[in-house]
Amino acid sequence: MRRVAILGGTFDPVHLGHLIPTVGAAETFGFSQVVFVPAYDPPHKQGSVMAPYSHRFAMLALATQPYDRFFVSDLELGRSRPTYTVDTLREFARHHPNDTLYFLMGSDSFSQLTTWHRWEELVDLAHLVVLRRATIWGEELLACTPEVLRGRLVSVTLFQQVPDPPPAAKLIYLLEHEPFPVSASLIRQRLQAGQTISELVPPEVHRWVVKYGLYHQVSHGC
Ligand code: ATP
Repeated sequence: MRRVAILGGTFDPVHLGHLIPTVGAAETFGFSQVVFVPAYDPPHKQGSVMAPYSHRFAMLALATQPYDRFFVSDLELGRSRPTYTVDTLREFARHHPNDTLYFLMGSDSFSQLTTWHRWEELVDLAHLVVLRRATIWGEELLACTPEVLRGRLVSVTLFQQVPDPPPAAKLIYLLEHEPFPVSASLIRQRLQAGQTISELVPPEVHRWVVKYGLYHQVSHGC
């Protein structure tokens, strides 16, 4: 069976912190595809100002273009709001009945898992691959992991082949890698402070941000 991964997020904007750890995960697990799914109306960002979906999607299309195995999907576009990851994953699974699914998430997101809508259902839809963020890992992350999930945790070394999981088990892989300490908030803050982001995002994304004047002021361009 092919291994297919999905990375959901706001991607406001996509940056190297999304891409570099995902390249590591794709190599380690041998993913045939990694599908980036921008959130249409993420429940945890209600009330905050985001760049329009069309811009976030366009920047992801540019960022994933150089990678043969990376794709962007508009699976959440036009769905009833807010858009929940569990519904996205269920729909994705319907489109991929013959693939083994992996859901990638940063360790900050994983530490908040129990706040996610129907999280108990989500963890049974795909294996999780937790990417290391500088803010939380190790004992601290373990302490945030619900008791019921602790037996599913498996630590994985970057670039070391991962064997197929036992049938029916849904595992939670902790990918051991150097954190890449960039976030979209940092990118937005730097732009607002007039600092460069050119080495923190792919060049095409940088050009898009500048061209449409994203994040510099309240307006998000045309
Ligand atoms: P913000 O700062 O606006 O909250 P973000 O960059 O932390 O944004 P998203 O764009 O929503 O977050 O990220 C999508 C997914 O990618 C999340 O699971 C997040 O944890 C993960 N992610 C983001 N940045 C990194 C990074 N530097 N390393 C590993 N995972 C990351």
